[in-house]
Amino acid sequence: MNEAANPLEPFDDATLDRAFDVLASELKTDVVAMDSESLRLHWLGRKQGRLKLISEAWLKSAPAEARRPLGIRFNLLKQQIEAALEAPALGRAAAKPVQGIDITLPGLVRAPGIPHPLLKTMQEIVDVFHNLGYSTSTGPQVETDFYNFEALNFPPNHPARDTQDTLVIANQQGRPARDRLLMRTHTSPVQIRTMIAQAPPVRIVIPGKVHRNDAADATHSPIFHQIEGLCVDTNITFSDLKGTLDHAMKALFGSSVKTRFFPSFFPFTEPSADVQISCIFCAGKGCRKCKQSGWIELLGCGMVDPAVFAAVTEQRAIAGEITPAYDPAKISGFAFGMGVERIAMMQYGISDIGHFYSGDMRFLEQFA
Ligand SMILES: [Zn+2]
Repeated sequence: MNEAANPLEPFDDATLDRAFDVLASELKTDVVAMDSESLRLHWLGRKQGRLKLISEAWLKSAPAEARRPLGIRFNLLKQQIEAALEAPALGRAAAKPVQGIDITLPGLVRAPGIPHPLLKTMQEIVDVFHNLGYSTSTGPQVETDFYNFEALNFPPNHPARDTQDTLVIANQQGRPARDRLLMRTHTSPVQIRTMIAQAPPVRIVIPGKVHRNDAADATHSPIFHQIEGLCVDTNITFSDLKGTLDHAMKALFGSSVKTRFFPSFFPFTEPSADVQISCIFCAGKGCRKCKQSGWIELLGCGMVDPAVFAAVTEQRAIAGEITPAYDPAKISGFAFGMGVERIAMMQYGISDIGHFYSGDMRFLEQFA
């Protein structure tokens, strides 16, 4: 509560100036010490406000000729109080003692972006083939049944087309089977697209995202990355395939790595093979990573099936080609494919594929 105001005597200008100077400096101190609500109550409170009490006391005892100069000064003081209330934080901040910089506080770290480990591995693999004269091709992730399956010699009822394996786009039943849209299950459709657009020789690598209807676990993800390669020219043999992949694996994992080829089956290659490399963890002696076998399976490959060339030739004929450029009697080729995640997991010793997609900075920062 405010005390009663000191009586004012005499009422000449000099005395009034001094009295109001005292009030103004009081106000200044209060602006620093009080929050805005207390400041408002203390000075402008309707019953006990300082302005009200003082003006009542002084105006009552003032002679008639002093009332006008008093009134003017009270108005001025009121404006100062209101101004202080409108910018209370400013008043207080300005009045606070200035502090120096605390050099013990941690600084602002501006982290530059780095390539994701998957992109790094993908680029390393692509570079190996660029050095062999291959170029990079890419294509859409939403594909038609024709490019993803039919042209790659998947028969009409092949189980890969089942929705348990393939993510299909909704409401496609009205379309012809080959035009129905799906999320590509491998990067192979880009092989078909490239061959339709370009006559041999073809030497391409195809890095990209692929989609499968898989539940996520430590080694599976419904979205993952593949790199495929395709080489088509005259006189391409299985020896060229073996030599190319053997070189690529040595370039990626070191010159002491050995490769071996096992018969396998893929609809789009004949003959087909699975490729194993000697275990990079135990140098072939046998360990937990290679299940004591000394070998790790890493790639699928094979010679391009003539049925694939036939599908390409059919499309090129529609576009106006008269002499087929992809005549299996004149040209041959090989194709191969590998999973980027699997290779990156081996390179970096990562046991859970989920780390790649979690966006966890603690994981990603290790690759900076
Ligand atoms: Zn091993």
